[in-house]
Amino acid sequence: MPSFRAPRGTRDLLPDVSSGLNRLEGVARSLAGRYGYREMEIPMFEQAAVFERGIGEVTDVVEKELFRLAPRSEEAEAWALRPEATAGIVRAFVQHGMHTWPQPVKLTVVGPMFRYDRPQAGRYRQFWQWDAEAIGDPGPAVDAEIVEMGYRFYLEAGLPHVQVLLNSIGDGACRPAYLEQLTAYFRRHEGELPELERRRLETNPLRLLDSKDPAMTALVAAAPRIGDSLCEACAAHFAAVRAHLDAVGVPYRVEPTLVRGLDYYTRTAFEYYRSGAEGQQQALGGGGRYDGLVELLGGRAAPGIGFALGLDRVLLALEETGSAHAVETPPLAVVVGADPADTVARFRVASLLRAEGLCVRAELAQRKLGRQLETASRDHAHFAVIIGDELTEGHVQLKDLEAGTQRLVPLAELARELARAAKSHHHG
Ligand code: AMP
Repeated sequence: MPSFRAPRGTRDLLPDVSSGLNRLEGVARSLAGRYGYREMEIPMFEQAAVFERGIGEVTDVVEKELFRLAPRSEEAEAWALRPEATAGIVRAFVQHGMHTWPQPVKLTVVGPMFRYDRPQAGRYRQFWQWDAEAIGDPGPAVDAEIVEMGYRFYLEAGLPHVQVLLNSIGDGACRPAYLEQLTAYFRRHEGELPELERRRLETNPLRLLDSKDPAMTALVAAAPRIGDSLCEACAAHFAAVRAHLDAVGVPYRVEPTLVRGLDYYTRTAFEYYRSGAEGQQQALGGGGRYDGLVELLGGRAAPGIGFALGLDRVLLALEETGSAHAVETPPLAVVVGADPADTVARFRVASLLRAEGLCVRAELAQRKLGRQLETASRDHAHFAVIIGDELTEGHVQLKDLEAGTQRLVPLAELARELARAAKSHHHG
């Protein structure tokens, strides 16, 4: 007998966890709606080139973590599962000519992402993200709006102690000179660099600031800061983003070494951490401005900003406080019967009630009435609908399990009676 298991790095979300995820998705959708971000779907896989180009070949996400699909012989295309949503959304923006829509185009995607990462706590090969993108607005106000929307997500999800880290990483006008400065600095310290970082110095020097290697901490702390090299336009943009955040009271900390792992980011970069866990590996979410990405993926140049918030890590954090699970509504009624064998009658009555929109369970196991009633109480149902001989006259017994009372109700009026009770008892 084979004993199959979920693939390494994936999890089955059992009902409790799944209901918690659903609740978070509900919070995300509600916020997206309030802020004017319209939900769309993109494929779970794309041509690998969409990610290679859109994310950058010299990034962990593409270099090490891209979940590539083995091509079938008859197909020349190389596909990969989506590691994030931004590249796919921007690909769709270009493909569907969304630059002709009223600008900015505000879009949102909620769903699973895939990275061939080394699995560990809080790091999975399939995980869930809420992604939001505003394309066509150079900011700075929209930058603050999106940072605030993410911040509010954690509040409404039930994680009040979240820290926003904020930085500006410049643009094509000022970053090249900064990168030269940064590269020169690290060259002077090349002997102290771990092997991986020495290689990155040649390919993507900004990434060194992002290094999680403890050997890098002191070097990074003393490195030249992008904030000191911003051109006038980038500095003004950054100041305005902060002023907008101040205006709505979103607390943030400017983090001079915050860079995002992805090449296409310009200016605003931000991350969310649990308070006290800033700067550790496990950000709750992050995002930034990507004014070069639309053009990079073949469209007419258009500015954009967005975020990706990981939902798994929010669930894990909520689990620690015991508030991860959504509260599930118990059934309003359970249909039971005096004749254990007559499952048809119970099934039929439950079907009638469900057709009226009521949340009703039918006891379909052929157990004695007493046992059926026990499971009804165990399910925390408010009522039991008891089918007995009265059914031949078109009646059933309606037992209020909480009050312990019971009365005869015509079948034709049962749905209305239950609906009325549901309303007065706030049952679903
Ligand atoms: P990133 O695009 O890498 O900044 O990811 C954005 C957010 O997605 C992170 O802050 C995490 O919350 C979440 N995330 C990224 N990778 C994973 C993973 N392998 N497992 C679980 N969550 C992840």
